Amino acid sequence: MLDGSSVRYANFDYAASAPALRAVADGLLDALPQYASVHRGAGALSQITTHRYEQARETVRRFVRARTDDHVVFTRNTTDSINLLAHCLAERGGDIVVLDIEHHANLLPWQRLSGTRVVTACGTVEDTLAALDAELASKPAALLAITAASNVTGEVLPISRLASIAHRHGARILVDGAQLVAHQPISVVSHGIDYLVFSGHKLYAPFGAGVLVGRGDWLDEASPYLAGGGASAEVGADGAPHWHSGPARHEAGSPNVLGAVSIADACTALAGIGFEHIGHHEHALRERLDAGLAALDGVRPLRIFADTDNRVGIAGFAVDGFSARTVACYLADHHGIGVRDGRFCAHPLLARLGYPDGAVRASFGLGTDADDVDRLLNALSELVSRRDTGRVEESLG
Ligand code: PMP
Repeated sequence: MLDGSSVRYANFDYAASAPALRAVADGLLDALPQYASVHRGAGALSQITTHRYEQARETVRRFVRARTDDHVVFTRNTTDSINLLAHCLAERGGDIVVLDIEHHANLLPWQRLSGTRVVTACGTVEDTLAALDAELASKPAALLAITAASNVTGEVLPISRLASIAHRHGARILVDGAQLVAHQPISVVSHGIDYLVFSGHKLYAPFGAGVLVGRGDWLDEASPYLAGGGASAEVGADGAPHWHSGPARHEAGSPNVLGAVSIADACTALAGIGFEHIGHHEHALRERLDAGLAALDGVRPLRIFADTDNRVGIAGFAVDGFSARTVACYLADHHGIGVRDGRFCAHPLLARLGYPDGAVRASFGLGTDADDVDRLLNALSELVSRRDTGRVEESLG
């Protein structure tokens, strides 16, 4: 059992939530004493806050290189953004095609709709693209909804090619960028993305705010996601509303201004650090982690595709002889290392990969260094060496 508070916590759970960057935390502290309700008041604080909130949309638009006429809607998180688009599709009709590797956030909202078809990903990216192509060719769909990077394995999908496939068959594409946007540059325009969603808390900003960026027509045609003030431009004496078009249509109620501003601050900070630097940093850590894991006896990495090396900083793995829970508790209790264990809200994928009871996920980001990786590897090595003693569980608190 870990007893000294002197052990530095090694956080390997960036894929769940990435701790706020210093610039984001400072921006939040700056904004806290002087924020007010947006779009409502004539007072100075209301004006300043409204300006900050609207500026945040523009910062996000630039960060993801969206079209000038795309809507940038602030939501609660990725899940909320996808549910918002699903709400629009429910009214609009049309089939949805998804892969079985998706996080539940990009699976369950669509499965509520009658026309959703789930395609099983193949063992290679190439075969998976071909399977999606065939599926869309066999029957038209309104939308291909797909993750940019797997939250289980970190494998990155070829977004531009997926967008071309969708468009060739008259469908639009929704990209779940939750696991990509903090790690690799994304361009709505050059990747050909119709809708992009992500969460602030995986982008080094706090919980509670997310984004849906994309084409305005479907969003403006749908009834508001939530009914209420802010979404309504005018309500007649008979109570009949005339709804706004634009982002406000789907942002009823007082919005999470601080969350939106923090997302914008995170975008600015990441752009300042630069994706080249972020890429080098994460690549070096990933190589070190992958090589170290491969050298450990009975540690099996999780992979969906055999033909891609493009991964963000996520390593899913299992350790022979130990449940994922035991591994995670051992690392936490004995070494102050925080990994994630379980099925990562991707139950169908974990079952298909042969881990119906779950696996371990170590994920990292800008605050991780080589020493953290070595600590994780040494701790796993120690655990593996105790495989045959049968005394690991009883040492856990
Ligand atoms: N999609 C992916 C790929 C994710 O990793 C996650 C979070 N684990 C989500 C969607 C859902 O994000 P949130 O909980 O912020 O809505």
